[in-house]
Amino acid sequence: MSGNKNTVALITGATSGIGKAIAEVFAKSGYRLAINGFGEAAQIAEVLAHFKSLGASEAIHIDSDMSKAADIEKLIKETHEKLGSLDVLINNAGIQHTDNVENFPVEKWDQIIAINLTAAFHTIRLAVPLMRARNFGRIINIASVHGLVASNQKAAYVASKHGLVGLTKVVALELAETGITCNAVCPGWVLTPLVEKQVNAIAEREKIDHAAAVHKLVSEKQPSNQFVELSELGELCLFLAGPAARSITGVSLPIDGGWTAR
Ligand code: NAD
Repeated sequence: MSGNKNTVALITGATSGIGKAIAEVFAKSGYRLAINGFGEAAQIAEVLAHFKSLGASEAIHIDSDMSKAADIEKLIKETHEKLGSLDVLINNAGIQHTDNVENFPVEKWDQIIAINLTAAFHTIRLAVPLMRARNFGRIINIASVHGLVASNQKAAYVASKHGLVGLTKVVALELAETGITCNAVCPGWVLTPLVEKQVNAIAEREKIDHAAAVHKLVSEKQPSNQFVELSELGELCLFLAGPAARSITGVSLPIDGGWTAR
């Protein structure tokens, strides 16, 4: 489909997991894609070729570390210069660390707040003038159910995601009279490398196999007893990026198999 061949989506952290899955759905819809995220050069080249094979009109990777403001400036500037506009911004890059608050490593706290929250402040503050100039934009922040409710051992993650939900509301209000919307998507458990680490930690701690650890992790919080599928997140973001979502702004939408209904 080529309907979006002139529409540019920047998706952060799209070399893996949820970001990559969102990019796949946007690629199928013909978008011009800019991504960042870590990975070996060969792996990144493969990911970009994959997006193009799915239908992306363009797919570029911009080397930039979301914990560094100067890198984020480069990311926004190069996206705009190389692809010609910036229509959809998806703040997805994120990290996790689990520990009790009294043991939480200070450097992990700083890193999580920087990548999960401060980076979105930077991308948004830099993208909004470009979007205002065309009176169109879609900002989608990949928060989490942990932007709405808490869990043990996730002080920094929960604080960062609650912060991201708050930032989403402020940006939506400030831009409410423009053609730019800002929303948060709040996934429950999705099987990605970020969650795989938590499954492995449970298996090791409880001395159970991988399948039993998955069941323990998911069933404790997510009433559906199933992971949210990666493609479901892509389709939700595609809808939020489209014309039918014009009046949806400032919301934090759970996609969580019932987690936050409890
Ligand atoms: P992941 O580890 O598979 O992918 C994270 C991506 O972010 C990778 O591409 C990685 O290279 C990139 N990244 C990390 N630090 C970066 C940095 N400093 N600079 C640039 N890129 C960086 O994780 P995921 O599970 O796909 O998570 C993606 C987002 O979804 C995160 O914000 C996470 O909090 C959120 N989320 C995940 C789940 C889940 O169950 N997996 C649930 C709710 C929310």
